[in-house]
Amino acid sequence: MLTVMATAAGAMILAGIGIIFADFVLFQGYLRNDLSALSHIIADNTTGALSFDDPTSANETLASLQVRVHVVTACVYQPDGALFAKYTRTGAAAICPAPRSAEDIRFEDGALTVFRPIIHLGERVGTLVLVYDLGEIYERVQLYGATVAAVFVFAILAAFLLSSRLRSLIATPIVELAGVTARVSASRDYSVRAQRLSGDELGLLVDAFNEMLSSIQTRDRELRQALLAREQALSDARKAHDSLEATLESVAQLNAELRTSNESLARSNEDLERFAFIASHDLQEPLRMITVYSQLLVLRCSGVIDKQTSMFVENIENGTRRMRELLADLLAFAEIGARFDQPAQPVDLNRVVEQARENLSVAIAESGAAIEAARLPVILGFESHFVPLFQNLIGNAIKYRSDQPPRIDIATGHVEGYIQICVADNGMGIAPEYHSKIFVAFKRLHGQKIPGTGIGLAICQRVVERYGGRIWVESELGQGSNFIFTLPAGLIAAQASKKDN
Ligand code: ADP
Repeated sequence: MLTVMATAAGAMILAGIGIIFADFVLFQGYLRNDLSALSHIIADNTTGALSFDDPTSANETLASLQVRVHVVTACVYQPDGALFAKYTRTGAAAICPAPRSAEDIRFEDGALTVFRPIIHLGERVGTLVLVYDLGEIYERVQLYGATVAAVFVFAILAAFLLSSRLRSLIATPIVELAGVTARVSASRDYSVRAQRLSGDELGLLVDAFNEMLSSIQTRDRELRQALLAREQALSDARKAHDSLEATLESVAQLNAELRTSNESLARSNEDLERFAFIASHDLQEPLRMITVYSQLLVLRCSGVIDKQTSMFVENIENGTRRMRELLADLLAFAEIGARFDQPAQPVDLNRVVEQARENLSVAIAESGAAIEAARLPVILGFESHFVPLFQNLIGNAIKYRSDQPPRIDIATGHVEGYIQICVADNGMGIAPEYHSKIFVAFKRLHGQKIPGTGIGLAICQRVVERYGGRIWVESELGQGSNFIFTLPAGLIAAQASKKDN
């Protein structure tokens, strides 16, 4: 509003100054013409008086100038410069300037002075000098100044009224918009909308502002949702982390407990093995005595004892033989777990298979078994472990044969860092549900129909696991069996590799 008022006032002042100046200049021109015409008339009217040397008539003519209140003085001079007639405005103490030969109108000493030669019949008969004060010009300037001032006041008042009306038209929507902005920034509530008060550019501005608010509102909502989801995920992760930590703690505790119980288990295992070893070793002596004395009894009493008594003695012999076998197997089993003081030796598995075949020569001959063995590696270990391993597997293949004469294949290969050896037979086979059970000590599938202690496969498993390998069976009932075991490839002795190469 101040800007509008200042602009209007400036424009008006400039216009006023322009008008006054223009009038000042124009009026000067007009005054020159007017005085020139007036001096002509007066000069013409005084020619007769000059010719007849009648100053009274000239004075009368000059006196007619009193109707022009701004004529200060007027004089008629004779050609010699002597004053002929004079008029002076009442109350004015003016002196006529000296006459000049040339006609002239000039502004001089704050007045307009006219010098006009008086000509009669082509001859100069005198000079008219007329002095006109500039009061009229000042009056006009004052009048115009007052008019401009009045117009100025009136126009400023009108501008003030008009702009205060226009101001409310323009400012109200802007104030409304500013209010909404302030409310939004204070409350962060983006659902607030500005009211559209007009259909003009300000209305468009309000619409654009509202659109911007609605898109901010959508973005704000999405942001809040994303924030909530992130907080939820964070709290879930924290919970999971806490529960993981709790689980880890209990796992660590369980581990510690397990380690303790493992240690005590290992200790009691060692004790048990030592006991089994000592017991099976020490029991052999009294057993041998029972066998020897029962045989002596049969010899001494031959022909004396009846049939039933000799059957009893025979049962004693069978029982002690079976017990001897059991003790021998138990001893072998306990020995595998025992610690060895000597360092491991290269063991040629081909020699081991030979040894096992020799030990089983009777059974092989009786059954007509055919054994095919691939070339096996030399490994680092103890021969006393590997002979029972192969002997048990080959012996079982013969013992649990089918109607066919046994055919045994020993093959070898490499699988991911392990040597794999397979002893395959064409025997009676094993139903899948027993595949893991048969490796448990004393677990037998065939009762006493086929003799055995049930320790053979337990010995095999113990040997293989002691060297870091694994043993399992692949078989179907009536389809033969594949006993497969692995040993770490690192066990292959260097010299054996060289030989192979
Ligand atoms: P056992 O002294 O009875 O032979 P093992 O531990 O050697 O004891 O074998 C456990 C059981 O596994 C045997 O009683 C037998 O039933 C079964 N078995 C082992 N080897 C074979 C095989 N090659 N074919 C079929 N059954 C077998």
